[in-house]
Amino acid sequence: MPTYPVTLIPGDGIGPEVAAAAVRVLSATGIEFQWETVMAGAEAAGREGDPLPPKVLDSIRRNKVALKGPTATPIGTGYRSVNVALRKTLDLYANLRPVQTLPGVKSRYEDVDLIVVRENTEDLYSGLEHVVVPGVVESLKIITERASTRIAKFAFEYAVAHGRKRVTAVHKANIMKLSDGLFLDCCRAVAGRYPGVGYDEMIVDNTCMQLVLDPTRFDILLLENLYGDIVSDLCAGFIGGLGMAPGANIGEEAAIFEAVHGTAPDIAGKNKANPMALILSGAMMLDHLGQHEAADRVRAAVHAVLREGKKLTGDLGGTAGTTELAEAIAGRI
Ligand code: NAD
Repeated sequence: MPTYPVTLIPGDGIGPEVAAAAVRVLSATGIEFQWETVMAGAEAAGREGDPLPPKVLDSIRRNKVALKGPTATPIGTGYRSVNVALRKTLDLYANLRPVQTLPGVKSRYEDVDLIVVRENTEDLYSGLEHVVVPGVVESLKIITERASTRIAKFAFEYAVAHGRKRVTAVHKANIMKLSDGLFLDCCRAVAGRYPGVGYDEMIVDNTCMQLVLDPTRFDILLLENLYGDIVSDLCAGFIGGLGMAPGANIGEEAAIFEAVHGTAPDIAGKNKANPMALILSGAMMLDHLGQHEAADRVRAAVHAVLREGKKLTGDLGGTAGTTELAEAIAGRI
């Protein structure tokens, strides 16, 4: 049985609590991990004067796999998002977010089973902003043929590998004719190479309405960075909220597994956070490592605890703490 070296970034806010819970559950699978814990985010900025110290990047480059809690980003001022920096520096171009109805979780919808594929390296997240003259600010939206083609290829390859039927490219090319127009041209060209997978296109505002009316009509959503960010949170609402939504940032050289949610400062340090999103991100990590059976056991344990409904955190209507819920899931494995 191999031992997997994994970089562990606990992060800020609820990060350390949900990261400890995920480590507890993943260790219960019997798979051997060698966790290399490194600090990034507000905690690292305070202690080391750098929110993303070089040793974090070194560790991920060496181990090629990381499990990450959320990291705080100052709003409006201050240092650049650690997430954006990690994704750009390590070229983790694909953000993969499965959105699947979970048993026993109260939600407005049933049988949701869609995949959000978000481009992770460019668009309005290029960080290129400047003051043109006082009172006028310009923020640059960068869309390239290279990044659009490779994210479209990722979505179609994912569809083929997982038996998915249709990819919907989401855009606003009626207004941003050049940038979103280029994105669509690339998606169409890639779609033409996958005749076995259906392809259609939808304007982003209409997509939001159609999602809220009936999320079950979608299969794979393929989006640029900003639309993908917003639509991911919207989709998390279909399956019980941010506490349930896992994710992965995938590149050629490395992959970082992290939940969709942020640091949740309102409940941080209170043992109230739902760790399931990061635990399910951990299951995605096991799949990435080729440990599919262990990944299935983690998911089955999460489902069993949800079905039982006795050990649930506040966001799911229960009174259990983060640690109690993690113990319940680990116990099921
Ligand atoms: P958030 O996701 O932290 O919180 C939104 C709401 O969802 C809050 O009410 C919170 O309590 C709840 N919530 C989130 N995760 C939960 C969980 N696991 N269990 C129970 N409830 C949960 O979003 P925000 O408040 O907009 O952002 C806070 C900070 O997080 C910001 O600094 C932001 O930059 C950062 N952030 C980081 C990441 C990341 O590191 N990947 C992602 C999003 C936001």
